[in-house]
Amino acid sequence: MSRILIVSADENVADEIRKALPDEMYDLVRSTDVDGGFEHLESGDERCDLVLYDHRLTTSEGSELGRYVDRASAIDTPVVVMSEATESVDWVPLLNAGAIDHLLIDPIEADVLAARIGVLLRLKERIDQLRAEAVIDELTGVHNRRYLDEQLGARLGEAARYEMPFSIGLLDIDHFKLVNDAHGHLAGDRVLQETASIIRKQMRKEDVLVRYGGEEFAVMLPQTDRLGSAILCERIREAIAEHSFDIDAKSLRITVSVGVASYPLDDAAEPEQLVAISDKRLYQAKEAGRNQSVFE
Ligand code: GH3
Ligand code: MG
Ligand code: MG
Repeated sequence: MSRILIVSADENVADEIRKALPDEMYDLVRSTDVDGGFEHLESGDERCDLVLYDHRLTTSEGSELGRYVDRASAIDTPVVVMSEATESVDWVPLLNAGAIDHLLIDPIEADVLAARIGVLLRLKERIDQLRAEAVIDELTGVHNRRYLDEQLGARLGEAARYEMPFSIGLLDIDHFKLVNDAHGHLAGDRVLQETASIIRKQMRKEDVLVRYGGEEFAVMLPQTDRLGSAILCERIREAIAEHSFDIDAKSLRITVSVGVASYPLDDAAEPEQLVAISDKRLYQAKEAGRNQSVFE
């Protein structure tokens, strides 16, 4: 169900919008003042899919619409501005300020309102879907590197703020080229898919699995210190080593090497530093003979 925020002090306007938009299709929330609306825009896990902003709430400072547009665009939520202005000279600037559409109030035309909102919500749904797909790896269905790049800074910042540990592990399949060479690229793809699912089974729901590159995975481990991440990464490594992959009616075994870095024990102020440390340790694990983890 789509959630629509009405920001208007006018009871009649709110009523007419409610009449135009059936209850069973829309979850309508309303604020009678500008600031109250911001609280509704994102409350907890709930996000508004569309904002209907009554321009008569704009004060002489005139920044209210711009503030809605800024806050709402951060979550890809369109803002429709409603005003009494019938002359385009009056409402064109509102679109130029970032509103996606203009609706005339007094009177509100119910079918026009419903139709326009339907169009905007379909677009919003598509944007959300594309955004979600953009951070998923197509082959394995786990998150991709773009997601890691987007999230890592925020997660590390959170760890620093709440004085919590945070770890990242980089896993690289050993001699994966041989799997492709011996069994073909499609078999290699299946091994990657199955490896992702083995790793995921070992993780908590707060942990994030990312396909970092071709045959490399990364695990982001919030609230996990060096010991915790070492235990988890060793458990993952063992689960992979013990798994038998059914390829060409034969059973195939693979191993992984792992490099782990943990904040704050590893003094990494920037996310890239934490990745660089785990990458260096991954390389050490390879050098030391593969099928092992390095944590310090
Ligand atoms: P090492 O133990 O040093 O990591 O050896 P390796 O063979 O795993 O490492 P290398 O980096 O030389 O080779 C990685 C291979 O992974 C080469 C590439 O063909 C394969 N690969 C990368 N992405 C994919 C993919 O999406 N599907 C398949 N099937 N293979 C992939
Ligand atoms: Mg590699
Ligand atoms: Mg490899």
